[in-house]
Amino acid sequence: MNTKELKIAIERIIKIDYGKSLAKAKNYEKYNALSKAIMETIIVNWEETESAYDKGKQAYYLSAEFLMGRALGNNLMNLGIYDEVEEVLKELGIDINEIEEAEEDAGLGNGGLGRLAACFMESAATKNLPLTGYGIRYSYGLFKQSFIDGFQVEEEDDWLKYGDPWSIRREEDTVIVEFADGKVKAVPYDTPIIGYSTKNINKLRLFKAEPLVDFDFKLFNSQKYDEAVKEKNRAEDISRVLYPNDSTEEGKILRLKQQYFFVSAGLNDILKKFKKVHGNNFKEFAKYNAIQLNDTHPVVAIPELMRILTDEEGLLWEDAWNVVVNTFSYTNHTILKEALEEWNVELYERLLPRIYEIIKDIDKIFNEELMEKKYSKEKIHSMRIINEDKIRMAYLAIHGTHVTNGVAKLHTDILKYQELKDWHELYPNRFQNKTNGITPRRWLLLTNRELSKLITELLGNSNWITNLHELKKLEQYIEDPSVLDKLLEIKKANKERLAKYIKEQEGISINPDSLFDIQIKRLHEYKRQLLNAFGILDLYFKLKENPNMDIVPRTFIFGAKAAPGYVRAKAIIKFINEIAKLVNNDSEIKDKIKVVFVENYRVSYAEKLFPAADISEQISTAGKEASGTGNMKFMLNGTPTIGTYDGANVEIVQEAGEENNFIFGARVEEIEKIKDTYNPKEYYETVPGLKRVVDTLIDGTFDDGGNGSFKELHTSLLEGASWHKADNYFILRDFKDYIEAQYRVDKAYRDRRGWAKKALMNISNAGKFSSDRTIEEYAKEIWNIAPKKI
Ligand SMILES: *Cc1c(COP(=O)(O)O)cnc(C)c1O
Repeated sequence: MNTKELKIAIERIIKIDYGKSLAKAKNYEKYNALSKAIMETIIVNWEETESAYDKGKQAYYLSAEFLMGRALGNNLMNLGIYDEVEEVLKELGIDINEIEEAEEDAGLGNGGLGRLAACFMESAATKNLPLTGYGIRYSYGLFKQSFIDGFQVEEEDDWLKYGDPWSIRREEDTVIVEFADGKVKAVPYDTPIIGYSTKNINKLRLFKAEPLVDFDFKLFNSQKYDEAVKEKNRAEDISRVLYPNDSTEEGKILRLKQQYFFVSAGLNDILKKFKKVHGNNFKEFAKYNAIQLNDTHPVVAIPELMRILTDEEGLLWEDAWNVVVNTFSYTNHTILKEALEEWNVELYERLLPRIYEIIKDIDKIFNEELMEKKYSKEKIHSMRIINEDKIRMAYLAIHGTHVTNGVAKLHTDILKYQELKDWHELYPNRFQNKTNGITPRRWLLLTNRELSKLITELLGNSNWITNLHELKKLEQYIEDPSVLDKLLEIKKANKERLAKYIKEQEGISINPDSLFDIQIKRLHEYKRQLLNAFGILDLYFKLKENPNMDIVPRTFIFGAKAAPGYVRAKAIIKFINEIAKLVNNDSEIKDKIKVVFVENYRVSYAEKLFPAADISEQISTAGKEASGTGNMKFMLNGTPTIGTYDGANVEIVQEAGEENNFIFGARVEEIEKIKDTYNPKEYYETVPGLKRVVDTLIDGTFDDGGNGSFKELHTSLLEGASWHKADNYFILRDFKDYIEAQYRVDKAYRDRRGWAKKALMNISNAGKFSSDRTIEEYAKEIWNIAPKKI
C-alpha cells in the first residue's frame, strides 16, 4: 500500500464504519480506520505464515494473561512504516501522537507474568518462530485506577467500547466447551503478532465465551425477558473479567471455569489441526506440538489432554501419558505460598467430574511409583498431587510435563535446592532456567526514539535491534565525553517529556532537573514500596531538622495498582499519597523533594516512565521476586538500579557491574539464616531515624480516613498477624542499608559524566535481557522448534 492508497483507505473506512467524512471523525475513529487499513496490508503474509507453520513442529503458549498494551505504534514500528505513516497523517492534518493516545490499552493481565507473555509473542514473531498464543478475550481488562482522597478507587476497564480493529472474529473455528452444568461456545478472536523486520505474522488467539443459543425464544415470547437471557449471561460471565489478582486465588468457581474454558478450547483447536495433517497418529503428537503452561493457571491442560486421548481417541493410559508429558512444559513464576495454586477437590468434582477422576488416577499411579522407589510415608505425603482435600497444581504441573523452568538463575536455584527440592531429586533432568527478557522493540525503539537513534548512529551498520548483544560494542565510548553528554541530553529530554505528561495527567509540576527516582510495579508487600516510603520520610525529617542539608533535588515517582481485596496494599497506597501531600505542600522543603503517585499505571504509562528514570527501584525482599522484568526495562534505557540481590537483579549486576548499580540489604542466605529468630523491634529501637518513620503510622502525622489501616500496618511490622510473623518482609532489617545506598546514589549523581558512564554500562550490557534470547532458549532447549521464515 503506497501513501496515496493509505489515505484513500483511511477515508473510505471512516465513511463505511462511521458514516462521516474524515474532517468530522473523532480521534478513536481515525485510530480505528488507520489500524484497519494496516490490517488489510498484512493479511496475505499472515495466511502465508500460517500455512508455512502448519507443515512442521509448532509451539503454543497457554496463558491466562496477555498484557499487550497498545498495538498501533508497535505495529507501525515493526512494519518499518512508522515515519511514513506519520507523514501521511500529517498531510491529512492528523497528529500521529493523538491517534496513538486514542487507543485503549489491551490490559488483559495483572503485571509481569502477563507482560512477559506479550514480549514472548513479539519476540517469537520477530525470530520467525512458529509460536501461537492461547488465552481469554476478557471483555473487561484489569480495572482502571484513580485516587480519591489518596485512596485507590477501581472502575471497570471497558477496553472494547470503541471496538478492536486488531482482532478478527473467527466464527468458523468456534469450539464447544463442556462443564458439568452445561456447554458454552468458545469463539476465537485472532490478533496478528507482527515481527520486526520480517514478513512473518504470528497469531494470538483469544477465546470469548458465548451461549449455544442467544436467548430462549419461548421464554422471550411469554415475556420472561430476564429468564430468556439468563443462559447468555451465565455463559458470557466466563470471559467477562480478568481477575485483578496478582498472587492469591479467589472468585473460585468462575476462575476455575475460565481456566478450563481456554485450555479446553485451545487443545481442541490444536487437535483439530493435528488430525487434519496427521490423522489419528496421536503417538506422534509430541513430535509436532509443544505446549508451554504459563504458570499453573492452564495446568488443567494435563488431565484434559489425557481425557481427550483416552476417552475420545482411544489411546491406552500409558501411551497417552507419554504424549502428555512430552508435549507439555511448565513455567514456575513464584514461590510465594499464597500464590501456589491449590484447588478444592469438591469444586473440581462438581464442575469437572471426569477431569477430577483423571487427576485422581494420576495421583494414584504417582503414589505407587513413589512407593516402588521406597520413599518414606512422610515424603510421599508431602509430594502427593492430591493432599487431603486440595489439588496442588504446581505438583501436577511438574509431574505431568518434561520441563519445569524458573525465570531467573536465583529463582531456579531456589526451586531446585529449596522449595521444590524433593521434586528436583525425583526429576533432576526436568529443571531448567530461562531468565526472563523484554522486547527491545517496544521498550527501547518505540519508547525511546532518541536513544535508539544514537545507538544506531554509534554502531553504524548493526542489527542491534534484533541482536541485542551488539549493544556491548557501545562500551568503546565509555571515555567519549561527547557520547556521555549526548546520553545525559537524551535523558533530560525524556524527563521533560514525562514532566509535561505528569502535569497534564496528575496536575502536579515536577522539576526535570531533579533526580527521577522511580518505583513502578504491582503494589505488593514483598516488593516493599513501604521501604521506599520510609526512606522518603527519613529524608524529609532530616531536611526539616537541617533545611540547608546538601542533597540532590529528587522526585520520587510511584505507579502501582493494588488488588481490590488486598487491604494492606491499599493502605500502603494511601500512606504514600499522604506522604506526597505532606512533602509537596511543605514550603520549607522548597521542592528539594517531591512525591508523585501516578494514577492508573499500565503499559502505555510505563512506556513514558522507563525512558525518563534516573534510578530504578528494585527493592524486594531477597528471594521473593522470581525475576522482575521492570528492572530490565530500566537498564535498557540507561537507568542504574538501586536494589537487593533478588531475581534478575543478580544477573543485571553481573552483566553491568556492581559498581554501576547500588546493591544493598540482606541476601537470600542471610534471610534464610535469620528468619526464625528475626526480631524487628531490635532494629526499630536502635537504627537511627527508623522509629520516627515507622511511628508516623500511629502518631497522628497521617490520616488513614479512620479505617485503622495505618495502625494495622504498624502492627504487622512490629507484632505480626495471625498468618505471619512481625515484619514478614524484613523492611526494618534493610532500612539502614537502603538509606546508605540512597546516600551513595545522591553522591554519585553529582558527577554527571560519571553517572553517564554508569548509564552507558547498563545499556551496553543489557543484551542478555532481550526476550529474543529468552524465546530462542525456549525454542531450542524446551520446545525443539526451528525458525521458519516465509
Ligand atoms: C514490566 C511491567 C510490569 C512488571 O514489573 P516488575 O517490576 O517486574 O514487577 C508490570 N506492569 C507493567 C505495566 C509493566 O510494563
